[in-house]
Amino acid sequence: MEAPGRKQSLPLLEKDSPSATRLRVLLPLPLAEAYDYRVTGDVPPPGSFVVVPLGKRQVTGVVWDEAADSGLPDHRLRAIIAVLDAPAMTPTLRRFIDWVAAYTLSPRGAVLRMAMSVPAALEARPQRAGWRRAVPLPSEIRLNAARQRVLAALPEGAVAAGDALTKTAAVSGAVLRGMADAGILQPALLPPEEDFAPPDLARPGPTLGEDQRVTAEALRALVAERRYGSVLLSGVTGSGKTEVYFEAIAAALQAGRQALVLLPEIALSAQWLDRFRARFGVDPALWHSELSPRTRRITWRAVAEGRAPVLVGARSALFLPFPDLGLIVVDEEHETAFKQEEGVIYHARDMAVVRARFSQAACLLVSATPSLETLTNARTGRYAEFHLPARHGGASMPAISLVDLRRENPPRGQFLSPVLAAAVTETLARGEQAMLFLNRRGYAPLTLCRACGHRLRCPNCTAWLVEHRAARRLQCHHCGHVEAPPSHCPSCAAPHSTVPIGPGVERVLEEAATLFPDARRLVMASDTLPGPAAATAAAEAIQKREVDLIIGTQIVAKGWHFPYLTLVGVVDADLGLAGGDLRAAERTVQLLHQVAGRAGRAEHPGRVLLQSFAPDHPVMRALVSGEFEAFMAAEAEARRPGFWPPFGRLAALIISSPEEAAAERVARDFGRSAPMGEGIEVLGPAPAPLALLRGRHRRRLLLKTRRDVAVQPLLGEWMARVDVPGQVRVQVDIDPVGFL
Ligand code: ADP
Ligand code: ZN
Repeated sequence: MEAPGRKQSLPLLEKDSPSATRLRVLLPLPLAEAYDYRVTGDVPPPGSFVVVPLGKRQVTGVVWDEAADSGLPDHRLRAIIAVLDAPAMTPTLRRFIDWVAAYTLSPRGAVLRMAMSVPAALEARPQRAGWRRAVPLPSEIRLNAARQRVLAALPEGAVAAGDALTKTAAVSGAVLRGMADAGILQPALLPPEEDFAPPDLARPGPTLGEDQRVTAEALRALVAERRYGSVLLSGVTGSGKTEVYFEAIAAALQAGRQALVLLPEIALSAQWLDRFRARFGVDPALWHSELSPRTRRITWRAVAEGRAPVLVGARSALFLPFPDLGLIVVDEEHETAFKQEEGVIYHARDMAVVRARFSQAACLLVSATPSLETLTNARTGRYAEFHLPARHGGASMPAISLVDLRRENPPRGQFLSPVLAAAVTETLARGEQAMLFLNRRGYAPLTLCRACGHRLRCPNCTAWLVEHRAARRLQCHHCGHVEAPPSHCPSCAAPHSTVPIGPGVERVLEEAATLFPDARRLVMASDTLPGPAAATAAAEAIQKREVDLIIGTQIVAKGWHFPYLTLVGVVDADLGLAGGDLRAAERTVQLLHQVAGRAGRAEHPGRVLLQSFAPDHPVMRALVSGEFEAFMAAEAEARRPGFWPPFGRLAALIISSPEEAAAERVARDFGRSAPMGEGIEVLGPAPAPLALLRGRHRRRLLLKTRRDVAVQPLLGEWMARVDVPGQVRVQVDIDPVGFL
């Protein structure tokens, strides 16, 4: 990270000054250790943002409170160049960075970098000059039309920038100068950048139901204690969990502290924001990847200065510089979107608990379908648990039934069974909305040659190319490779011989167009709704009943509230069960339960049809009976004996290289030098399921230990035993969620 401009910073030190002090400075670079620098004169306290030389560069880092240890004599140390005029990083955040680095086996500087993601925010903004009107106005002034427009745009007490004023009043700068000469306008400093408006705590929220009220009281009490505590807030979809945790937010603000809400997909959260506004009368601060640089800078600084009372964000918000966090909410805590899989590999849900602990804050994990990890923590008493058993306002849970595809099969080449098609028709005839869910983008997941059987695959990845017919292309969903559909088979050269195999949402849309020609149809998938504005517009169209039939991927499973939606059809309920992922069953139940939870959320009862070839599978039985608890209990018993998480620990090593032989060699070396001992098991090396990804060959090893084994030291020693050449990368994934 290059140092930002330092006009406002204090120059320090002279060379060879006698009273130099040594300081440790951690730099936001992939380095494990902080570096020693020297400083003369005022010593910046730990947490200060300082500019230091590094080679020929200048880099901004943070003074770390640990003993200097380079062993270099004073005169060999380089001096700190400047101290920036930004709020120092709190000890809490510094300890959190150290902890995350140690837990994930990442360089501390790489974690620091996530906490310094907005270098521009470290610059103090010089206050800009503007104009205000003289009070009282000089007597005997002549106000022509231009001057009158200026005064109309500048109420008494307000300060406006000159350029803004010339624009709104449609006058030239000369008019303003003339008014200043005449004593009508006076120079004044513009206020610093806008604060985030404080939520209105006096505003009445909805009248909570009895279960909601009791839970909200308990959460308020916990937050008011100003100490760490983690709570699982569970309850069926639509039970009013959000309204309940809004009360916990209010309690944090009443205690004068800040609140952070993590949402898995902030881009899909327009309805959540509407509800926040309805409860608190203002917008919260937002944090996600699509903010403009200016908004990022303003938000980061406002958070650091305690001027952003509530912030809602994606997982990266966990590394923002809150000076006094009183509450962290992780909504939809079971979502895998909280796991960051690149760079510093961490799980934001788990790290939220850690940050809350360091901050003496409450942590609320919220879900209708909690992860087995969180359920287990609740059952063993590490987390408290509150449960809302019924839908708010007496709405009933949807009736879920199975369509056995072995008997009720769709017509050849189609994907909707007659039963499901009839249910959609009935629903639409009643003037209600229906949704078809299929967690697959595009038209078809596989294309093959009818003549020779050749399958079209990505040149960079172990993956089939997915046809996107509307966009007239084939696409790899792993690396983004795109190509035009071939006119001849690339293998046998047969002309026009390719056929799509299996459905994606586009293909279901095509089928729906023939089956329900009069229905107004909408596809909701990440590629058809690029960005928050499109998703918001889609949700509004559904709420306004401008849409009859929604066809969507997993983005329709998010917390949407569509009151007129009464039928959900799951086109392929078995889809997530394929593959040997440890959590495939758990995740399928969670996803389908969430999708089902979209139906019948208001006065009209909802129904859900699951199309499956395996209606006797425990996942399907759990969904139909609604016995989520029993299913999770069985899931736990299946994992316990083998010490699978959460009863044991996992860490994955992913070894990759552009050269297959190098990846293979290093993987074998890791295999040979694997740790051994009581309660330790190493699986692999083996080619990763995505054996080729973005042109890199990949091998995996999996370390599985009992819970009482500390995996980080074990991994640290293991990595030190293996020589890794430059072009080979070794990624460590502690508590892996994905196994590709
Ligand atoms: P969950 O988060 O458990 O899925 P929500 O908090 O989204 O449930 O609530 C479902 C619906 O019920 C929302 O439209 C919400 O505004 C409404 N709701 C919840 N609690 C109340 C209440 N006490 N009074 C009025 N409406 C409520
Ligand atoms: Zn690819």
